[in-house]
Amino acid sequence: PARLSARALVKRFGETTALAGVDLDLADGESLAVMGPSGSGKSTLLHCLAGILVPDAGSVMLRGRPVHGLDERERSLLRRTSYGFVFQNGQLLPELPAVENVALPALLLGTSRREATELATRWLASLGLAGMEGRRPGELSGGQAQRVAVARALVTQPDVVFADEPTGALDQANGHEVMRLLTEATRAVGACLVVVTHDEQVAAWCGRRIVVRDGRVVDERRTA
Ligand code: ADP
Ligand code: ADP
Repeated sequence: PARLSARALVKRFGETTALAGVDLDLADGESLAVMGPSGSGKSTLLHCLAGILVPDAGSVMLRGRPVHGLDERERSLLRRTSYGFVFQNGQLLPELPAVENVALPALLLGTSRREATELATRWLASLGLAGMEGRRPGELSGGQAQRVAVARALVTQPDVVFADEPTGALDQANGHEVMRLLTEATRAVGACLVVVTHDEQVAAWCGRRIVVRDGRVVDERRTA
């Protein structure tokens, strides 16, 4: 049985059909690159899989449990408990030091402050950021900030990590390093990874890729 699966997923925005019937299965520990031209429906697919958007038709199942019909409060809980997110520009809280940005998702799940701080400190160290715990996002380089975002996505040991153009704001060397750490870290916690990207070199880090065009999956290729 798949960890995450979608069946006949449809999402419309007014006249625009962003997803026109997508089927997808993600096995335990699998990493998937979602590629395709701009406007083809990649972000919409990620948002529907991740419980950010509600599809108009079709189903999304996490570990066999239907999650497409949950209300906003239930989806918010699902995102916090089961998913981690990495977006293009980190979306870290600018007033909080790195360690508190990373600890926050664990605190929201009821982890004690002390344990959350310990966990966050350990994650930062394993992502090469020992000594940077007290820095605010504005005091970090783009690559460092994105590694903080990776730590934040993993601190709750999610079932699936969703990344939307995680290297889009980085140069090639930093992008490479972020993808290496992101794929290593997701593997270490046994999470699946879904990465939306334009970049072949980013996709190459994933075990499998799909190409989305006009809201449909048109090509699927296993890379490793
Ligand atoms: P991609 O991520 O591949 O660039 P998107 O999923 O963002 O594509 O968009 C797919 C289609 O849906 C596009 O035509 C886009 O303009 C449209 N779309 C996406 N989000 C919205 C929205 N919130 N409101 C209206 N149209 C949207
Ligand atoms: P895009 O490539 O579509 O421009 P962004 O990196 O700007 O993507 O952000 C992704 C979108 O997802 C944003 O619109 C943001 O508001 C939304 N988003 C990010 N995190 C969450 C979350 N945890 N819950 C709900 N929506 C989120």
